Amino acid sequence: MSCTICNLNEGEVIWSDVALRVVLIPHLDYRGYCRVELIDHKKEMTDLDESLRMRIMNCVFKVENALRIIFKPDKINLASLGNKTPHVHWHVIPRFKEDPHFPNSHWGEKLREGSHQIISSDEKKQLIELLKNSLNN
Ligand SMILES: [Zn+2]
Repeated sequence: MSCTICNLNEGEVIWSDVALRVVLIPHLDYRGYCRVELIDHKKEMTDLDESLRMRIMNCVFKVENALRIIFKPDKINLASLGNKTPHVHWHVIPRFKEDPHFPNSHWGEKLREGSHQIISSDEKKQLIELLKNSLNN
């Protein structure tokens, strides 16, 4: 299949269970950028039963919470589009006033150069630990 999410083409899996996974995207301008991905190839949230929908959103909120603790962003962006990749996934993006696109969407018009801060190994370790503690029960 040519689906980039099924093929796990991008990022590093930092947490998963049988239905979901959290992927850390190695983005130079957006450190801590995560995607919550459904493992099954399904197009819409309403293709899933209610308990799975709730599990996905719970996971999105746990990721948001962990990112807020670690990075103290000015804003969290949550997005689910999937027009190019019609496979259920949620972007969870810590945003800062000095990031390249703020206050535009990170897919929008770039307004300045970013600071190119990739996630540190300590931050990554902390993120993995927070997700493990909040999601494994
Ligand atoms: Zn897929």
